[in-house]
Amino acid sequence: MSQTLSLYRLQQADSQIDRAQARLQAIQKTLDDDAELRLANEWAESTLAICQSGDRALKQAEVDAQSQRIKIEQTEASLYGGKGHSPKELLDLQNDVAALKRHLVTLEDIQLEAMLAAEETMSAHQAAQTDLLAAQSHSSEQNRGLHEEQNTLQKELEKLFAERAAVAGPIPPDALGLYDQLRQKHRGLAVAVISENSCSACGSGLSAAQMQSSRASGQMALCPSCGRILYGS
Ligand SMILES: [Zn+2]
Repeated sequence: MSQTLSLYRLQQADSQIDRAQARLQAIQKTLDDDAELRLANEWAESTLAICQSGDRALKQAEVDAQSQRIKIEQTEASLYGGKGHSPKELLDLQNDVAALKRHLVTLEDIQLEAMLAAEETMSAHQAAQTDLLAAQSHSSEQNRGLHEEQNTLQKELEKLFAERAAVAGPIPPDALGLYDQLRQKHRGLAVAVISENSCSACGSGLSAAQMQSSRASGQMALCPSCGRILYGS
């Protein structure tokens, strides 16, 4: 295979790879932009966070009420413990127990509210999870075609990369280097086919000598206008 033909084949493989990769990117963007699914995800996450903070508040309220009960028990034990308290001390202890019990009522109210709030946020989270599952199944139904296309393109890309490696293998490094430079400079197109005596990439006309040198094996002819490697079939 002449070097120019090899470079042309390489260009064909690279162009196909570029197209497949661009399409894969576009598919991924469409999949990522699934607004319904994204919102359902966000809602499920935020209801979970609210649930978790509600659970923490409930646990704290339980701990507070429980330690208040222990304080009451201890004060009552001291009150009825039979230790010789003066009438003033007994009165203080009775007042303490009464104050502790009043505060316990407040703490139990807080606990009850926390329990109700936790139940409410839990059911909101469960509803959000149900919505998320529905959005996921709707999205996968809707995007099945895209996922199938994604799989096909990925398999195609594997083949194309193998093909590219086989074509690129025998091309000398300096020719490959020029090819890569031209690909970067000209948005992926380094090799231009000669069509109707012109460079098909930039449209510039070619002299008979330029056309002939592009067909001669073992050398590369470049388009005098755009600098791409010319390939004459
Ligand atoms: Zn050109």
